[in-house]
Amino acid sequence: MAVITLSGLTKVYPGGVRALDALDLEIADGEFFALLGPSGCGKTTLLRTVAGLETATAGSVRIGETDVTRLPPGRRDVGMVFQDYALFPHMSVTDNIAYPLRIKKAAKNERHAAAADVAAELGLDGLLARRPSELSGGQQQRVALARAMVARPQVFLLDEPLSNLDARLRLEARTFLKKLQRELGVTTVFVTHDQAEALAMADRIAVMEAGRIRQIGTPAEVFRRPANLFVAAFIGSTPMNLVDARVRGEQVEAAGVLLPLPEEARGLVTDGQAVVYGVRPDYLDYSPSPVDGSFSGRVAVVENLGSSSLVTLDVEGVLIHALVGEGSEPEPDEHGWAVPRAGRALLYSDG
Ligand code: ADP
Ligand code: MG
Repeated sequence: MAVITLSGLTKVYPGGVRALDALDLEIADGEFFALLGPSGCGKTTLLRTVAGLETATAGSVRIGETDVTRLPPGRRDVGMVFQDYALFPHMSVTDNIAYPLRIKKAAKNERHAAAADVAAELGLDGLLARRPSELSGGQQQRVALARAMVARPQVFLLDEPLSNLDARLRLEARTFLKKLQRELGVTTVFVTHDQAEALAMADRIAVMEAGRIRQIGTPAEVFRRPANLFVAAFIGSTPMNLVDARVRGEQVEAAGVLLPLPEEARGLVTDGQAVVYGVRPDYLDYSPSPVDGSFSGRVAVVENLGSSSLVTLDVEGVLIHALVGEGSEPEPDEHGWAVPRAGRALLYSDG
């Protein structure tokens, strides 16, 4: 398949919006790569610029050995799924799927045979004669995927392909898509604003903010070691505790509590320095009795999350969240202690 290499990629729209800002990125051959970031950060622009639907203002796009920066979309060997699917309403499922081959001027019988093959792979066999309006959302999504696959491209570009599905279908489609990508081994760039989706599906994730990449890493890396406050706040189903703090020698003072200085911060911070102490609710162990080096306060809220509860402690006016396992939940207004697990707290000084 193919490596994708973006070098200094910049896109400034007419009117002056800098949607991509000198972005460098290398996506490995066969990788399932997620582009994650809030609305408006430039994800769609990046995908469209790789596809050739937008022209780069500066920088280059390489797919495999080929510099495709100035090539039209049809000559880039990519298949794209658009967020709203962009199916042709007046065409049958077969003609929708076969469309990329029509652009390539393939013969009709060849187009129909290829469309039927892909339709069978995606479980769309019985639906070939229908129009898109006669399909469910999940089926439309598969037709869009089939159209992206039909020409057997080297690269898949998927723009929030699951965001129009309801929650249950979305989970099914996640598994389906991941399995399909594994089997086909096609280099895939998957755009999402949903951090849980990126963590669940991707081999690696790039977290974007305002046309730039703030961190690249495996799901485990961006979850456990967010490189900056932006990523720390963006990743995680329950928000990370980020507490204004100050270095006190070998310790750090946060919410009035002295805690051990995180290992990685040693030598990088100075005594008295203002920092932010970060620890995920997942990595705070709750205790109903006193523990040294812990956040201690009144239980303000207990939220049931199913197999765990999110407990909010009021620690001298600072709210600290801890995940507590089934059966160990405290009652509101109890006094509780939340102990940061060794090696799981982080310090930020990037403001
Ligand atoms: P995302 O997909 O992450 O939500 P987009 O790539 O769609 O972000 O947009 C990035 C920025 O570029 C936004 O500020 C958006 O308003 C702007 N933008 C997107 N498309 C256009 C366009 N065709 N013309 C002008 N500005 C645009
Ligand atoms: Mg978008």
